[in-house]
Amino acid sequence: MEGNITPQAMAAFDENYKRVREEIAQAAQKAGRDPNEVTLLAATKTVPVELVNYAISQGLACLGENRVQELLEKYGALNKAGCDLQFIGRLQTNKVKPLIGKVSCIQSVDSQRLAGEISRQSTAAGLTTGVLVQVNIGREPQKGGVDPDALLEFVEEVRTLPGIRVEGLMAVPPVCDNKSVLSRYFLDMHKYYVDIAAKKSDNGNMHSLSMGMSSDFPLAIQCGATMVRVGSSLFGARQ
Ligand SMILES: *Cc1c(COP(=O)(O)O)cnc(C)c1O
Repeated sequence: MEGNITPQAMAAFDENYKRVREEIAQAAQKAGRDPNEVTLLAATKTVPVELVNYAISQGLACLGENRVQELLEKYGALNKAGCDLQFIGRLQTNKVKPLIGKVSCIQSVDSQRLAGEISRQSTAAGLTTGVLVQVNIGREPQKGGVDPDALLEFVEEVRTLPGIRVEGLMAVPPVCDNKSVLSRYFLDMHKYYVDIAAKKSDNGNMHSLSMGMSSDFPLAIQCGATMVRVGSSLFGARQ
């Protein structure tokens, strides 16, 4: 059911989706990588569920919501069978419970408290929840994420928790027009990712380096991203 979305909205999505996939393929090829190694996660905050379902019908296989409330509002009407649903926003401990069993991965784990609650709620539900550890790669005081200096130790601790599987790292680097500065952040993230995946404690679970948004995803792919989170380039500017 497409509900009340217009043919124009569908056509605009079709065009954007084609272009974004081409840009992903080009960036991967430029870096000598297989484009299939890069997952496109659509950031669907503020996008009506009817348009999200249309996108899924056109092949979109992975999406991420930012706010628990909005995710729960869309959840019933969402064509979940066709798509992998993840959580990418900042998460308060008291909002964890309703997400468990609904999302395959929580990309924004940055405190032991939050990891502990995901572990408890997942275990209680008899489930294992995938998580990415969010890294505050620009060391910005107002931003979420683990400080890079504390990252290795943090990941090792989270890995010991039941009901949690650490699948990778996520970052939102500082807003920056300078490509060489930005690629430094992305390359640092890639180095952490490789180092952490190489640890004995990994058990082969690491497969996701989530970085790059509408403004910079080709650069992130050239620096090793395995997942890009794209919103406005797919669905248009948000109000
Ligand atoms: C909104 C959002 C994105 C996508 O942003 P765009 O610039 O619209 O592509 C990616 N990651 C997170 C965490 C977001 O909140």
